[in-house]
Amino acid sequence: MPTVDRDAVLDDTDLGALATEICGEPRGRGRGARWHCPNPAHPDEHPSMGIYQGFQGRWRWKCHACGEGGTAIDLLVLGAGMTVRDALLDLAGRAGLTPQPPVRLAVPSTPVPANPPSTAVHPAIGELVTAAAELLWQPLGAGARRYLHSRGFTDDLLTANRIGFDPGPRQLPRPEGLPHGGPGIVFPVLHPDDRQPAYYQLRYLSSRSTRRYDQPARTLAPNPKLAHLATSVPAQPGITVVCEGFPDALTATHNGLAAVALLGTAHASTTSAPALAERLIAERPDSAFVLCFDDDTALDPAKLPAGQNAAARLADELAHRDQLVLNIQPPTGIKDINAWWQQDPATVRSAFERLSAMLEPPAIIQPVDGPRPAPGPPQTEATNPGLPDLGQLPSC
Ligand SMILES: [Zn+2]
Repeated sequence: MPTVDRDAVLDDTDLGALATEICGEPRGRGRGARWHCPNPAHPDEHPSMGIYQGFQGRWRWKCHACGEGGTAIDLLVLGAGMTVRDALLDLAGRAGLTPQPPVRLAVPSTPVPANPPSTAVHPAIGELVTAAAELLWQPLGAGARRYLHSRGFTDDLLTANRIGFDPGPRQLPRPEGLPHGGPGIVFPVLHPDDRQPAYYQLRYLSSRSTRRYDQPARTLAPNPKLAHLATSVPAQPGITVVCEGFPDALTATHNGLAAVALLGTAHASTTSAPALAERLIAERPDSAFVLCFDDDTALDPAKLPAGQNAAARLADELAHRDQLVLNIQPPTGIKDINAWWQQDPATVRSAFERLSAMLEPPAIIQPVDGPRPAPGPPQTEATNPGLPDLGQLPSC
């Protein structure tokens, strides 16, 4: 790697201009200018990110809602999916500090990741997923297996979804651009047709990791946004559970339901929710939808209700398209379906079992572009998230 003077690069970077490039036009001007947060996990509808001069006069950015922040390098890493090295080279190229051409920057025009320009998947992704799926079952994977079993996942379910263990780059070398922060669980996104790995999310196991989840750089693979999970037993027909992330979706599949994991609530932001709804309807035709998103405020009331806001937007979009949709939430104080299941598996199972009775899909679901439903009894109308919150029902 060529020597690049990090401080000189940061000093020569116009952070405001870079923020506009990554996050879109700011609201307000001067010191009060606010950009949409570049954090893909934070659907920041009302711009909350500002820039300011910090220590030694160096410019930094900070999102006042989710707390993310840092230098121009962090902005490229978080907002454009670059590695630190690529971000540094890119900034150096812009500032004319190095002879080599700048790394090509592909950034969305909005803070929400749009479809990346390339659909090619780097072969290293398949290789890592395959190696990790083998390592999980070897002695090296014992700790990871314990972690997964403690979350309630059976070996059948782990095998069916090719869940794996990444011991970190020292034991499993990988090219630049794949997560390299240490040991973690590999949750692969498998192509629905041939079940080949198209992407993965890494759940770090070390509490020292600064972030909990990581994923390949978008130069190596497009973020598919959705992952369809496999059930180890035949799933209840006519119902798809949409969850925020893999552990919740695995919980639903373990309870005999077809499940889809959404890879980040940003994909259900105001601008992205309509396309997401259409895609779900296209990929899960003849299915009613049950949304189980996190209650981010369950453990910390000061947090943003990002998960529940995303669920409400997606439920709205699905209902507007004549889809039957239920929005279920764990009881107060429990963050997500997987945590709920770990605490009280019997109640979660019975809640999931009652879904089919509540939804009765064959009588109500119409093809998207088929005939409109004939006027009929009230339950033929598209329903909405106002239906009973299963978490609040008595746990008979
Ligand atoms: Zn933010």
